[in-house]
Amino acid sequence: MIEVKDKKFIPFLSEVQLEEKIKALGSEINKDYKDKEPVLLGILNGSFMFLSDLAKAIDIPVEIHFIKVASYESLSSSGSIKDLIGLNVDIKGRNVIIIEDIIDTGLSMKHILNLVMDKKPASISIATLLLKPEALKEKLDIKYVGFTIPNKFVVGYGLDYDGYGRNLKEIYQLKI
Ligand code: 5GP
Ligand code: MG
Ligand code: MG
Repeated sequence: MIEVKDKKFIPFLSEVQLEEKIKALGSEINKDYKDKEPVLLGILNGSFMFLSDLAKAIDIPVEIHFIKVASYESLSSSGSIKDLIGLNVDIKGRNVIIIEDIIDTGLSMKHILNLVMDKKPASISIATLLLKPEALKEKLDIKYVGFTIPNKFVVGYGLDYDGYGRNLKEIYQLKI
């Protein structure tokens, strides 16, 4: 068990589990996007570690960019989403893979999808390390899912609790 700020968390996904899954996702992307030179579009801050490891598991030519959006307050989804910050590259006609740490209600992803779609890419797919199907409120076509997890708050491997815990090497679940 570990403490992040004022809360206790228990180990949930180990480094090895993450590593194996991300390698498998990378292989799928290598196959699916051969000769397509995809743009990996990471959603900051949460996706930075996932994107870093995923990119290392990809051996086809890719571009990597990050954008930022804010929607989450502490332990529950606020549902209020701000605009995209930092999409300063022309993705028109490109094959975009949106990279997320976690899809919870799906509200942020729905919004991001619409904003990315406005830029007229050739294709868009979604890759998320974690998916909470029980929390999902939006119909989303999610092509790459690392782990389907229960509707409990998790931290680590890029995911924060009130700004802390992003540097943890594995993923922990809130102890209740
Ligand atoms: P959604 O819009 O799908 O409800 O939430 C998307 C964002 O909320 C995620 O990208 C992530 O930043 C944050 N989020 C959702 N669930 C969790 C969770 O269990 N732990 C952490 N740390 N962040 C979460
Ligand atoms: Mg995120
Ligand atoms: Mg957060």
